[in-house]
Amino acid sequence: MNYYYENEMFKLEGISTEHTISDIDIYIGKGILKNTSSYIKKRNMGKRCLIVADGNTYLAAGKALAENFAHDGFAADVCLLRDRGEERIEADELSVGQVMMSLEPEPDFLIACGSGVINDITRFVSYTAKKPFVSVGTAASMDGYTSVTAPMIFNGKKVHRHGNAPKILVLDTEILKNAPKELTMAGFGDVYGKFIAKADWLLSNITTGEEVDGQALGLITQALEKLTRNVEEICSATDEGLKAIIEGLILAGITIFTTGQTRAVASVEHNQGHIWETRMLEARKPYPLHGTAVGCSTGYYLRMYEYFKKINIKNLDKEKAKNRILNRDSFRNKVVHCFGEEWLSVLEKSNKCLNLNEEDFERHYNSIVNNWDKIVKALDFLPTWDEYREIYKKFRQPIHAEDIGIPNDLLKHTLPYSTFYRDRYDFVFVMNILGIIEEITDMTLKDYQKEKQKWF
Ligand SMILES: [Zn+2]
Repeated sequence: MNYYYENEMFKLEGISTEHTISDIDIYIGKGILKNTSSYIKKRNMGKRCLIVADGNTYLAAGKALAENFAHDGFAADVCLLRDRGEERIEADELSVGQVMMSLEPEPDFLIACGSGVINDITRFVSYTAKKPFVSVGTAASMDGYTSVTAPMIFNGKKVHRHGNAPKILVLDTEILKNAPKELTMAGFGDVYGKFIAKADWLLSNITTGEEVDGQALGLITQALEKLTRNVEEICSATDEGLKAIIEGLILAGITIFTTGQTRAVASVEHNQGHIWETRMLEARKPYPLHGTAVGCSTGYYLRMYEYFKKINIKNLDKEKAKNRILNRDSFRNKVVHCFGEEWLSVLEKSNKCLNLNEEDFERHYNSIVNNWDKIVKALDFLPTWDEYREIYKKFRQPIHAEDIGIPNDLLKHTLPYSTFYRDRYDFVFVMNILGIIEEITDMTLKDYQKEKQKWF
């Protein structure tokens, strides 16, 4: 499946002629912010809106938007999310309360003017207050623009709430390229992580027969090719570079709609990012941006995939591997460091991979061994760790987890067990079955220790 543009509207071949996808109109282009009111008029969404922004996004796009609206006969109120000084604005009770209390005078629709958090707050309020919303992105930083779930913080804990997808999404590359570089690099990391997701999906297809959706896989492959072809352009933050990231993020979002799941876009690299976020939040410590965490996590897993491909499958100790994972108590003692007691107890209730019996073990183990050559061949497309480091070096972005605020101790425990975050088959699970995950984790961590970052 290919994509194309029709008057800045991002379109997929063979999908609805009316909308880009589902009910969403997606516009990507240079200098298109000023067209936002005409996009809205096309959808008959009414004339009164509430723009949700923070101090930075208001200056980046909200102000121009409000002026444009006034000129085009819209009534626009602004809800400026409260600045929290050193701390980041979060999608939590304070932000939601602020937006809810700004719903008077009653708007016909909302506008999320920003990226991750502002969109999450707005999609949640949009759903709760039954008001449609338009998203005007200010950074190419994450793949959730078209999402219908809102990751939020409630009572100091990460929760996922229902949300609406926007009716219209406007991504003006002129605005995106002025976003802080850290946000753009986060977007890059979020797309780059799809290499791991793709590899894990193909792996599962071979060993468990899990169905792979060819169209979704094709979209992700296109996104990755465009991304890696445009590293230079991204580095110089050109319109073309920004477009490569944003198209990747949008294509990823689209696969979630077309397949009804996140398989094509998220695997252990995302799991680990989510675990880091949750555990850091628990510890009341700051945590990295979603895409920054995913990009960093991807580096470690690319290195682990290199070791994975070199496993001498005929030389493994099957009995030892079996005892390791089937001895519930000792195995649990390892995994509990990754999730903490409370969280692990919840996961154990639903996650089949945490409740394996001997029969399951035999089935998984044998299928991996019997299909080994096929597996290794399917992983040919993966970039090397060297390539990854070269790119991050070019971007002058850290690759070590501790440099993005993740303690080494946490990293050591999340790398080998992130697979148990959800019931999904991936190469970390496979290495747990084969009984070699701790060994490969250690080798990877040693490689990272040796890798002194010279580009700071
Ligand atoms: Zn993501």
